[in-house]
Amino acid sequence: MKITRVRTHLLDHKLEVAFESASMRFDRRTHVLVEIECDDGTVGWGECLGPARPNAAIVAAYANWLIGQDPLQTERIWATLYNALRDQGQRGLSITALSGIDIALWDIKGKHFGVPVSTLLGGRFRESVRAYATGSFKRDGVDRVQDNAQEMATHRDAGFHACKVKIGFGLDEDLRVIAAVREAIGPDMRLMIDANHGYDAMEAIRLGQRAAEYGIDWFEEPVVPEQLAAYREVRTRQPIPVAGGETWHTRWGHREPIETRAVDIIQPDLAGCGGFTEARRIADMASLHGVRVVPHVWGTAVHIAAALQFMAAMVPSPVRNNPIEPILEFDRTDNPFRQAVITRPIDHVNGVVAIPDGPGLGIEIDRNALREFAPKED
Ligand SMILES: [Mg+2]
Repeated sequence: MKITRVRTHLLDHKLEVAFESASMRFDRRTHVLVEIECDDGTVGWGECLGPARPNAAIVAAYANWLIGQDPLQTERIWATLYNALRDQGQRGLSITALSGIDIALWDIKGKHFGVPVSTLLGGRFRESVRAYATGSFKRDGVDRVQDNAQEMATHRDAGFHACKVKIGFGLDEDLRVIAAVREAIGPDMRLMIDANHGYDAMEAIRLGQRAAEYGIDWFEEPVVPEQLAAYREVRTRQPIPVAGGETWHTRWGHREPIETRAVDIIQPDLAGCGGFTEARRIADMASLHGVRVVPHVWGTAVHIAAALQFMAAMVPSPVRNNPIEPILEFDRTDNPFRQAVITRPIDHVNGVVAIPDGPGLGIEIDRNALREFAPKED
């Protein structure tokens, strides 16, 4: 079995209402899928986290090392590609591009053996996961406090047990948002906050100290990912557990945050950290140090499907009759191609998402949707 072709598919949609996190503005939704084809006709799909066109360019650069390789040798290919760009590419787009390739190779491997990726990873501990709703960005032209509170109430009404709100826009406004959301969702729903590294350490500590009374499960990306000492300071000087990981890459990038307990919860992204091959090592490392793993997800159904396969195989922890189950990040913001790219959408029922059990990622791509949402040249 040999790889014969590597392609990328850009997806693009202009939003009617733009929105912002603390660190990024979204006028459009753009994502990129990776398609790898083999000489026996098997096709695998992956996705890269982050800017679509730069990721596609790096995937194309990696194609030289992929054509003619046996796609089942995922570890060997990972090492070959990583070594190819290692001296200039130990983190960033070289790894997000590699992640999309690695996911596609595991999809091929699952299809080849006729089993889900989760079986290849060691077996399925669960057939479904509870999802948490991610949303509440700052949308143009509306009052953010009211808007976020109303949105989160709709997620509660849809059956979600937990939700995450975006902060990092300024302490006073953020606290008003948190208070309004807690009021709107009631005392029982789990609530997380995500600053998208919009604070410095002193602001984050003050925010955490004042937000704790609203019952916050975790405080995500309080400061920029490069500042691990600031992370540790935030973790020790305010009461809310700290989470992070979506912008750390490979086992090396996750090692120090885990080993030095910069976070209580590590959030490796399958489409960013290095794919299944590397996410496994990161989860193992987290288990050595008692750090909880909650994968980060921000992409299409391909990305969601990859996260679900990984979560199916996560070893229950701690060891007891009712261990803490992993929860799926479920993006609720505007993105018409998120589920359209597959033939059978991955949806939630009362906040619970079934994990596909077909071969590979367990999904089928809708090529009409890829054409429909391909960028229009203008
Ligand atoms: Mg985040």
